[in-house]
Amino acid sequence: MPLYNWGVSFFNALLNFIYPPICICCEARLQNEEKLFCTNCWQKVEPVESNNPDELTALKVWGSLPLEKVKSLWWFDDFIQNVIHEMKYNRKLSLAKKLGVDLADSILRDSDFASADLLIPVPLHKYKQRERGFNQSLLLAKSIAQNTGLAVDDKVLKRVQKTQVQAKLNAEQRMKNVDTAFEVVDGNRVKNKKVILIDDVCTTGATLFACANVLLNAGCDQVLAVTVAKARDFEHSSEV
Ligand SMILES: [Zn+2]
Repeated sequence: MPLYNWGVSFFNALLNFIYPPICICCEARLQNEEKLFCTNCWQKVEPVESNNPDELTALKVWGSLPLEKVKSLWWFDDFIQNVIHEMKYNRKLSLAKKLGVDLADSILRDSDFASADLLIPVPLHKYKQRERGFNQSLLLAKSIAQNTGLAVDDKVLKRVQKTQVQAKLNAEQRMKNVDTAFEVVDGNRVKNKKVILIDDVCTTGATLFACANVLLNAGCDQVLAVTVAKARDFEHSSEV
C-alpha cells in the first residue's frame, strides 16, 4: 500500500476510533458493514404489501388511469423520511445505490415491470436541479439500471414549469399544480415502449400521473412507476 493511502486509512481509522460512526436515526453505533443507518432501523420499516389493483382503482376517481401499475417499497415514516432526506439534501450516493438495489429487486420479481424497455426518472425543474446539484430520481434510476440491465433515459421527459411545493396542497390542488408541468422532448424515444417512472416518494400520485399522461400522449405504450416510499397522508410527504 502506498504511503499516502496508508496515511489516509490510518487517519480514517483514527477518526472512527475517536468518533465512532452512529446511526443517523437511532444513534446506535454502526457495525463494520453498516452505513449511515443501522440494520435494526432498516428492519423496522414497514413494507407496502398492498401493491395491488385496489389502490389504483381508488385513484380512478380522477377519471383516467394513465398508470398501469405502481409499486412502492415502504410506507413513509420518520425513518424513511430521514433516509430520503440524507439522499436528497446531503447527497449520500451510497444510499441511492442501496435503494436502487432494493427497487431493482422488486422490479425483477414482477414480470410486468421486468419486461419494461426504459427507466425514466421524474425530472426536476432546471433551476431546482441547479440548486440541488443532482436529481435524486436519476441516482435511483442509475442504480436500478445497474442491477436490472434496463436502460435509463433522463432526457426524454422534461419539467417545464417550476411548481409549488406540494406539501401544503390537497389532492385536487396537487393535480392542478403539476398538470402542465411536464413535457416530452422527443416522442420517438418512447414510442410503443413500456416505461417505468422512478421517483422517491408517492403521495397522491399527482406527479406520476402528470408524467404518465404526457408520455402516453407522446405515443408511449404503457407507463408503470416505482417509488421508494408511499405516504399515508399528505402532511408528511416531501413529494414536490
Ligand atoms: Zn438505527
